[in-house]
Amino acid sequence: MTRRTVFLLLIAALIGVGPTAADEDPSSPADAESTEPQEFPKKLYSGRVVFLEDALEEQGVETFEETGRHVVLETDEGDLIPILADWRGRAFYQDEQLRDRKVELIGFLRPGLPYLNVIAVYTFDEDGERMYTDYWCDVCSIPMYMIQPCECCQGDVRLRFQKQDLPEYIDGEGEGSTSK
Ligand SMILES: [Zn+2]
Repeated sequence: MTRRTVFLLLIAALIGVGPTAADEDPSSPADAESTEPQEFPKKLYSGRVVFLEDALEEQGVETFEETGRHVVLETDEGDLIPILADWRGRAFYQDEQLRDRKVELIGFLRPGLPYLNVIAVYTFDEDGERMYTDYWCDVCSIPMYMIQPCECCQGDVRLRFQKQDLPEYIDGEGEGSTSK
């Protein structure tokens, strides 16, 4: 297991998401950065993730091609929140399976930075069941959070869906709910 994998697992354990987090032994000391998301209130954001240029086009706003690289969460209220392409949000830029569908995202906004830091992704299956969504290597049985070669065997990872309720600190109150 790489240092980065341990780091990501620690994040998952700290924020209380990820079915596999509890199964892993976070025996290594936490990286200093792993506590960073704790500083900001985490909320639930509901909507669907779309390309910014498509969302703007619907609103009659004309932009040039550079806009097309950005993805945003179009909330149920119609707000557009850009998604930070970090260790968790990057998957929305990479994977069309995550776009144009109902999602619930747990995340936070840093003061002064209008980009959503996503820390957990939920999608919904055809029956409307909430599915915790991440990536998985079947060979090594480790989770990952973007499309990349497995950090262990360098093989392919697949998008994984697991039926799961929201963590207790979110409590399903919808967008704007405060973290506990
Ligand atoms: Zn692997």
